[in-house]
Amino acid sequence: MRGATITIKCDCGQVQYVPYGESWTCPACGRRWNTNQIPAEEYWGIMREMRGYRLRVIGVALILAGVFAVLFITTGPGAISLVPLVMGGWFFFYMPRWRRKVRAATRRLPKWQLHPE
Ligand SMILES: [Zn+2]
Repeated sequence: MRGATITIKCDCGQVQYVPYGESWTCPACGRRWNTNQIPAEEYWGIMREMRGYRLRVIGVALILAGVFAVLFITTGPGAISLVPLVMGGWFFFYMPRWRRKVRAATRRLPKWQLHPE
């Protein structure tokens, strides 16, 4: 599993995205920031949560595709006429709700106070 990058904001104002487990030396002031100061348990716990959101969307999409496959097989090509309806529901109701949830989760992300090495 790959984790998301961590946004490091240097005391001097420089911002850099650094993968978890790596260090970054600020080119402007030379401070060295080590993302290993973040507890692994906390970091991966959050990554698992975010991954869960993505997996749920994929899961729901697969279920919908499966339902359509079954409808298509059992009721014939007429099932195709339902596709725009379901796709509309997906894009206008499900995805916005999902995005809101993910955004809310992203807002809850902790900010860690790292110390330059
Ligand atoms: Zn700096």
